[in-house]
Amino acid sequence: MQALSERLDALLAGTTLLRADLLGFSSLKTYTPTPDSVLQHRLVCVHRRAKYLVWEFDDGIRIVLHLSQAGRLDIEQPPKQTRSRGSAVRFVFGREPSGIEWSSVGVLVREYGTHRKVSWWVLPPDDDGPLTGLGPEPGKEEFAELIRTSASKRHLTTDLRDQHVMSGIGRGWGDDILHRAHLSPFASLGSLTPEQRESLLSAALSVLNEALELERTRKGGLSEAKLGGRFKVDGRAEEFCPAKCGDTLRRVSFESYEMTYCPTCQTGGRQLKDRRLSRLLK
Ligand SMILES: [Zn+2]
Repeated sequence: MQALSERLDALLAGTTLLRADLLGFSSLKTYTPTPDSVLQHRLVCVHRRAKYLVWEFDDGIRIVLHLSQAGRLDIEQPPKQTRSRGSAVRFVFGREPSGIEWSSVGVLVREYGTHRKVSWWVLPPDDDGPLTGLGPEPGKEEFAELIRTSASKRHLTTDLRDQHVMSGIGRGWGDDILHRAHLSPFASLGSLTPEQRESLLSAALSVLNEALELERTRKGGLSEAKLGGRFKVDGRAEEFCPAKCGDTLRRVSFESYEMTYCPTCQTGGRQLKDRRLSRLLK
């Protein structure tokens, strides 16, 4: 998402929003301001906050887009008129006719499958909408402060994926980060030594930076299904541990999701019990 926001910014910053064609009405979550009120305004920049793409316009209005799991974003040069299945909205950006050069670019937001979870908001300057209350992101000073001082008693894996505690990580990278930091997913921030907190911090930064470098090598929109295999640990249960400790990665269920970890690297060799199961047995 970070790399995509950088590509969109490079391509579109400074252009003007010419059209916003609503193709799937359920995806727009706000009534006012209307998308039409942003037309003819200049796009100042595109950036990312947590898993949201934020489009800032010169009048202070922001369009915020959440692609969710099945959401895709196609860049169309020139813009198309098609309305394929799962389409949510098409934005058309252009430059003022200046001399001989005039080009416009379409950004089609669409969704695979039957899920309809792509959402977008048109926010006035004083409204943060879905961005309200998001936790700090890795790389920010507040994030380091949180990792160094938090007394949270919740499982690390829960805090890592809670966007209101810290944002921009999510489950997949969370598994990879905990593995690199040699921490059990069931440890809590409050239980960590200062050394463990530092290794969590540096693991978070290095895992996410490597991911970003990889994503930056991609081009265009986000039209292909998400590449499997970008995680080193998450979703790879039964494979050998990437740290080459000789162990195999294990899967453990917790609440409504699963996580992957290496017993040798993370839990002193202990195999974690499914928390769902053990609660039922109590
Ligand atoms: Zn290992």
